[in-house]
Amino acid sequence: MEVGETFIRGELFDLAFNLNGKYEFAFSNDQVTEQNIVEEIIRCVKTLTTVANVKESEVLGIGIGFPGLVDPVKGLSIFTPNWGGWHNVSITKQLAGHLAAPIYIDNGGAKLMAVGELLFGAGRGLSHFVVLLMGTGIGSGIIANGKLFRGSSNNAGEFGHTTINPTGPLCRCGNYGCMEVYLGAPGIISRYQQLSQSVLPHNGNDQIESIKQIIILSENGDHVAEQIIEETIEYLGICIANIINSINPDQVLIGGWSGLLFGQRFLTKIESVVAKHALEESLSKTTLRLCQLGQDAVLKGAAGLVLQHFFESNGDIEDVIIGGKAIDV
Ligand SMILES: [Zn+2]
Repeated sequence: MEVGETFIRGELFDLAFNLNGKYEFAFSNDQVTEQNIVEEIIRCVKTLTTVANVKESEVLGIGIGFPGLVDPVKGLSIFTPNWGGWHNVSITKQLAGHLAAPIYIDNGGAKLMAVGELLFGAGRGLSHFVVLLMGTGIGSGIIANGKLFRGSSNNAGEFGHTTINPTGPLCRCGNYGCMEVYLGAPGIISRYQQLSQSVLPHNGNDQIESIKQIIILSENGDHVAEQIIEETIEYLGICIANIINSINPDQVLIGGWSGLLFGQRFLTKIESVVAKHALEESLSKTTLRLCQLGQDAVLKGAAGLVLQHFFESNGDIEDVIIGGKAIDV
């Protein structure tokens, strides 16, 4: 299941990862309360199992990707920036009385996306890679030695909050001049608006249309749009070079809706910026590609999380989880 800031999506898989059912529900940020998120998750599970005619007791587990900061060990959704007042919500505890299967939560934005790409997408067979997620915010999921690298408090990979200009604009994290204020969709749209003196929609799905519009304007010779797109490619290339210099991965995968829009059109340009800023030796071992699974990555990563827990408690996961290289349990 993927709980987004404005939607819940669920898919039911069998052990061969055949899809047995889909569920989707949209809501607006101001409708969010603990109670209705919990109720909607329960409704999602009940609907999927009923439609697929599967007993809940036969479900191996429920993996849920949550936005924002998550404590997977305690099953806590710690903080979601766009849900006002949402702090330390004990998701697994609240669901436990209502659902029969074990429940596992994690950060759905980038971490589960990286797990999905590792198991089923562009990361198959790789030991070290980074998924760079570019959308409203900037995040990343790091796979090291074939496993998700979490860091000491599950916050590894926050490249969006590395400072690139200490006197730059205020970021939603409270610091100034983070990569995210330049590379996140609201920052791109604001810079275009300031320079062109025009107004583009900023919120929710409108952001996607606004970014598409700036790209199209740049392709049609609008000088302001051209300048903003060039700048954004520059920031993106620098961000990727910083990742390559600090992580030394086999591959960097660009993902997220905005990342895919930029990556599909400007990959060669992005590569040349990366080449200017990355260390030669590290760069020579790294390729730059796009994520393959799109939005499916989070759902497949969430299902992979269940499988990972299942094998960890029943056998040796090491041979299963490394990019599908070996199945030996
Ligand atoms: Zn920040």
